[in-house]
Amino acid sequence: MGTTSHDYSDDTVIVTGATSGIGREVALRFGEAGATVINADLREVPKEDGLSTPTHEAIEEAGGRAEFVETDVSDADAVAAVVEGAREFGGVDVMVNNAGIYRHASLTETETAAFDQVMAINARGVFAGCRAAARDMLDRGVKGAIVNTASVSSEYAQVGHSMYDASKGAVMMLTRVAAAELAPHGIRVNAVAPGIIETSFGEGNPDIGGEREESFIVDDADLPDLDATTVGSDIPMDRLGTPEDLAGAYLFLAGDDADYVTGHLLYVDGGYHTV
Ligand code: NAD
Repeated sequence: MGTTSHDYSDDTVIVTGATSGIGREVALRFGEAGATVINADLREVPKEDGLSTPTHEAIEEAGGRAEFVETDVSDADAVAAVVEGAREFGGVDVMVNNAGIYRHASLTETETAAFDQVMAINARGVFAGCRAAARDMLDRGVKGAIVNTASVSSEYAQVGHSMYDASKGAVMMLTRVAAAELAPHGIRVNAVAPGIIETSFGEGNPDIGGEREESFIVDDADLPDLDATTVGSDIPMDRLGTPEDLAGAYLFLAGDDADYVTGHLLYVDGGYHTV
């Protein structure tokens, strides 16, 4: 069972980007803890399929309740429709805004369209999820929880990261503003900040059309020495993180054990942000 004392068996949990990586593990863990889980992702199976069973099927095979809804989180109306659809299961209790993409380029090489795309998915997608869930929880008078996936990049700059770090900084501030506005209504909003996690992150980025995709690709050789300038040179715990390392943080922040925790950025990074 999960790592929290919270009983999720009456809860409906939406996880964006639950087809692979961190989101998949978070969805599986909420499913294990009894929740009805809705996976809102661009695709049902990862682009580079290393998994035989889609997330919602894996949850069902383990005896849980889950469904997949094809969703592009950069489309705010689509995100609102997922939240609306959750009413079929009693309405959203926990919204996990996790979908995200990674692109890098030096500032001077970054194309406006690339910047806009990263912001549309990573920042506007989280805004859309927070807003839709909050509106629905307020309408229903539900004291729910929202957990966003931020990053060490929310607070620490890295060379070549103008798009990604700007988007993750926005996630952190959206989390704090939403937390302050929604606290009087009993809705808590927090964020998990992963360090370097072993997923296919970056490889599974959405198809964005040949011509545009080409223009987004900037060879590492065009960048200043990335290794020498990334935040910290080592992970103090001396290993990369895994989705399994992350999932418990989401269940904690969404549950009763975190009843007095809101607006918090919880690093799960093996100490990476400390160095
Ligand atoms: P991943 O690529 O395995 O998973 C991302 C998921 O989001 C995929 O299933 C993908 O299909 C989905 N997605 C992408 N664009 C989408 C869109 N427009 N609409 C709906 N779904 C979309 O990567 P991951 O490592 O599991 O990343 C999950 C989150 O964790 C991201 O927000 C990422 O920024 C964050 N993060 C990852 C790391 C890391 O090192 N892996 C570190 C810090 C933060």
